[in-house]
Amino acid sequence: MRAMTVIPGKPDSAELSELPDPEPNDGELLVEPLYLGVCGTDREIMHGGHGEPPPGRERLVLGHELLARVKEGRGGFEPGQLVAGIVRRPDPVPCACCAQGEWDMCRNGEYTERGIKELDGYGAELVTLEADFAVPIPDELGMLGVLTEPSSILAKAWEQIERISRRACSPHERVLVTGGGPIGLLAALMGAQRGLEVHVLDRATEGPKPEAVNALGAHYHVGEIADVAKEVQPDVVVECTGVAELVAGAMQETAPGAIVCLTGVASSRTLNLDVGALNNELVLENDVVFGSVNANRRHFEQAVSSLHQADPDWLGRLITRKVPLERWPDALAGGGGDIKVVVDFTQA
Ligand code: BGC
Repeated sequence: MRAMTVIPGKPDSAELSELPDPEPNDGELLVEPLYLGVCGTDREIMHGGHGEPPPGRERLVLGHELLARVKEGRGGFEPGQLVAGIVRRPDPVPCACCAQGEWDMCRNGEYTERGIKELDGYGAELVTLEADFAVPIPDELGMLGVLTEPSSILAKAWEQIERISRRACSPHERVLVTGGGPIGLLAALMGAQRGLEVHVLDRATEGPKPEAVNALGAHYHVGEIADVAKEVQPDVVVECTGVAELVAGAMQETAPGAIVCLTGVASSRTLNLDVGALNNELVLENDVVFGSVNANRRHFEQAVSSLHQADPDWLGRLITRKVPLERWPDALAGGGGDIKVVVDFTQA
């Protein structure tokens, strides 16, 4: 079978490798990927410091945003059923969080992640998937089920925002999302589903991003974050870019009692920042800034339900490019105007 492999941290190492077909063990399903989303993390693995191959190997099978069809079922999964794959596996110790199925909150860093950290990913023509880490996808979602994994990241972020917001005296009303990529737009969707007034800030002045924001009934902004935040006065900010200026800007000019959730992974960058002013904004306004990563089974299930409730035409707008498996490295190249790019296994 053919697989998308890379040597983590080595640019230009992406190739379509020929690997032996995997053999599922007792607890595993054998699945055939249909669509596999790619994201900034995959790009980071190829070019940056993120990502580790399985122990003793040089190459890693890439891919963690899976929509697949079950070929050999077990544990309640029937052949033909659509599934998504959970990314993280609990650490073997396990820490208190992993022991409770909250591996997204792992305390000792010894977790592993399919396609990212020490475990092969889902980018292959045949994949073994532990039944305990498979998530059923309703047939009606069809290919939109490929958005389950990125949506799970936002389901977790919103769950945490809601937990923190229990300290507030009145419900939060306005969310500012920074970044109009797939993570930003899914954050915006879930903000709208919660009845909040939604604002999205991005650089694109035209194309699918402003169109998707407008179609959601949300407000689209281009410009400096300080100006936009001053105007909007958000009481929730979901930062979805990891861009230093936006991360710094996201914490300032918020409404009193604001919750700022950081979801992006940043490259190293030094900024001139008035820490005193930032401190005073946070202290004198009871603001909370927190980071959020990964997702557990509950968040994958929340993601499926959120996608199921959304307008399928709107979700369809988010998938702006499909790349056949033979040319999979193209999925990670260029495409500044793209929202979500997926590798299409159905064209093989
Ligand atoms: C994935 C997460 C993962 C994170 C860090 C993200 O792209 O969606 O599941 O935890 O990268 O590796």
